[in-house]
Amino acid sequence: ARHNGRDQIAVYEAEISESVVADAKTEVALRAALGKRQFECWLQSKVDTHGVIRGAEALMRWRNENGELVSPAQFIPVAERLQLIIPMARELLQQVAFTLNRLKTQGLDDNIAVNVSPVEFLQSDYVETVQQIFAEYDAPLSQLTMEITENLLLADAEKVQQTMSRLAELGVVFSIDDFGTGYSNLLRIQQLPITELKIDREFVQLAEVNEKHMGLLMAMLNMARSLSVSSVAEGVETAEQVKLLGENGADLLQGFYFARPVHYKTWLDERLPQ
Ligand code: C2E
Ligand code: CA
Ligand code: CA
Ligand code: CA
Repeated sequence: ARHNGRDQIAVYEAEISESVVADAKTEVALRAALGKRQFECWLQSKVDTHGVIRGAEALMRWRNENGELVSPAQFIPVAERLQLIIPMARELLQQVAFTLNRLKTQGLDDNIAVNVSPVEFLQSDYVETVQQIFAEYDAPLSQLTMEITENLLLADAEKVQQTMSRLAELGVVFSIDDFGTGYSNLLRIQQLPITELKIDREFVQLAEVNEKHMGLLMAMLNMARSLSVSSVAEGVETAEQVKLLGENGADLLQGFYFARPVHYKTWLDERLPQ
């Protein structure tokens, strides 16, 4: 047993040092990427139940030295751990502000949603930073949505409440991302200026599988209605899902069925006239 125990510790330590080495390598790479402006904003359209574009979600992509695109799943968790997500998110926000300025100039009131990490949101100068970037680009804060996760609602309650209220006063809309996958405190959701629930793609995709899952999706859409907030379904891939979601009162739809994420300039070229 003693021998066994020691082996387990050795394995555990090896895992830790491997992840530390991986983090250190990624840190060097991410810092270099920041200096070279390698973080790009890609946009995926959100449509209403008639298929009309109402806005988009901003999804970060890293275009590395070799010109390859790296998925956020591969670098966001490390970037959050190292707090590098803060300057990275600023670069993304600048590209979003540029997009919103172009939309406003053309008289389009599309909303663009950004994913906000708790580390970023809890920075003491967060509101000022967002305001500054939007002022610099003459972009409307009333067309910005912040997708936050249920995790943030577990953080310093008073600070979260204050920051959200200040941003909401400036016109920013709040959405709960991946709703149903974390610890939902419905009372908390109702007390905060949250006006949208974003239903995770897992629920959308499982609903087709059987009645039980379908009931879950319908319950979530009903909950949004009861809380008087709008609902967005993500990961919509099939015509059947579109039908199902439309029949059950989803307000906005997003997924490969309608559009894949594209570089923000490509998205603007398609969205704007001529
Ligand atoms: P998320 O916020 O849940 O974003 C939705 C993800 O689903 C995106 O993956 C999107 O490309 C993908 N998706 C969209 N439609 C479909 C579909 O029909 N089918 C399937 N199978 N997938 C679909 P992506 O772009 O790889 O992003 C992964 C996650 O990385 C996001 O999940 C979000 O949590 C995080 N992320 C992305 N950009 C940012 C960012 O700028 N800041 C932060 N903090 N997180 C980000
Ligand atoms: Ca999201
Ligand atoms: Ca998410
Ligand atoms: Ca999701």
